[in-house]
Amino acid sequence: MLFSHLTSMCSDLLRLIYPRICAACHHALAGNEEVLCSFCLFYLPRTHFHLHADNELERHFWGRVPLRRATAFCYFQKGSRLQRLIHQLKYEGRTDIGRYLGKLYGLELLQSAEFQQVDLLLPVPLHRSRLLQRGYNQADCICQGMAEALQKPWSDQVLIRRQATDSQTRKNRFERWENVADVFAVARPAAVAGKHLLLIDDVITTGSTLEAAAHSLLQYEAASVSVAGIGCAIR
Ligand SMILES: [Zn+2]
Repeated sequence: MLFSHLTSMCSDLLRLIYPRICAACHHALAGNEEVLCSFCLFYLPRTHFHLHADNELERHFWGRVPLRRATAFCYFQKGSRLQRLIHQLKYEGRTDIGRYLGKLYGLELLQSAEFQQVDLLLPVPLHRSRLLQRGYNQADCICQGMAEALQKPWSDQVLIRRQATDSQTRKNRFERWENVADVFAVARPAAVAGKHLLLIDDVITTGSTLEAAAHSLLQYEAASVSVAGIGCAIR
């Protein structure tokens, strides 16, 4: 009783020093809100791809890599709430935003029988040099939240990145594919063989990175690979 009273006093005090504000619109959060206010949460532009086989993201991968399913939580647009959230996650140390968005989407994925049957979640790894620079991998944060919601295991030790890639933005599709083709390796083949794996990334832009990672996993006899992102910015 005394302890819970103290905890509540501490959190009230912290709120005075660091007011809890919405990470997207900066309005104060109500007591039951976390990271986003109810308004911003409601207006996130969800894709609902997980409920629709052959959705536009899956068609984007057709002929490139045989994925079981492909999905993303929201459409990603420049200047949007989601872009502000991802920016804070990647560049401002807001790892809590990654876990929050991952958990939010994980709870929605429970509506899909196929995503419920995933065996293991794997974040797209960063190269070691980038990891050292940033201090964390944003995809790990998303993966943690999603794994918690789906009640499935996740690992950052299975898929590894062998080399850093150049910036993808000024390359055409073939050059991008060439750039990432040998980037990934599987450190623990026994963990992937015969499994349905779910690869997790923050924003899916060209899909080249996920394509290369999925190819590596399939080489090691994963039964099937699905992919999920928080944002979908395919062109
Ligand atoms: Zn808001």
